Amino acid sequence: MSRVSADAAAHAVSAAAAAARDLPSVGGGIAGCLACPELASTRQRVVPGVFPAGARLLLVGEAPGAQEDAVGTPFVGRGGQLLDTVLDQAGLHRGQVAVANVLKCRPPRNRAPAPAEMRRCRGWLDRQVALADPEVVVTLGGTALTWALGRGHRLADMRGRAHEWNGRLLVVTYHPSAALRFGPNGAPMAALRADLALARSLL
Ligand code: URA
Repeated sequence: MSRVSADAAAHAVSAAAAAARDLPSVGGGIAGCLACPELASTRQRVVPGVFPAGARLLLVGEAPGAQEDAVGTPFVGRGGQLLDTVLDQAGLHRGQVAVANVLKCRPPRNRAPAPAEMRRCRGWLDRQVALADPEVVVTLGGTALTWALGRGHRLADMRGRAHEWNGRLLVVTYHPSAALRFGPNGAPMAALRADLALARSLL
């Protein structure tokens, strides 16, 4: 896709997202989104996210993986199981927190989201944040950090404290896949635990 048509697709997504008045209608728009031709033609399901009524905390991941693509729900694979465990340890339960991704479709072979895909998709997540109105947003990993704060921030420097962000509190932490990669005694696991406990303390 050329830059001009990618920008046009991003504007179309933003306009459709802005027109959606509630979370189910945003989800309906996402389900029919064709803004990224490669993702739209390779996905099995879109994964709009899960927004329990009244959730005060939103977790933002990167993009669906193979299992999420198969069932249409975020964080149901190994990373999701770890996330559930760490949430429990922090006194938070999956059913009470909203969970969504920067990209709503799986990138083929789990490649990293392309910057143009992030630009095109962002209208959906921005609208979901506006409608769900969480007090605290937790970004999981570098892609979600870039979505929230733009490029040029080191995750290790930003994590461990709450940031004022668009009238909300933002906590930046590692992605569960990093915690799995470095193992139970690795720094990302300890950081993920501490940062989710911090998020809990802010509610
Ligand atoms: N990784 C993510 O970032 N999101 C998911 O939903 C699953 C794995």
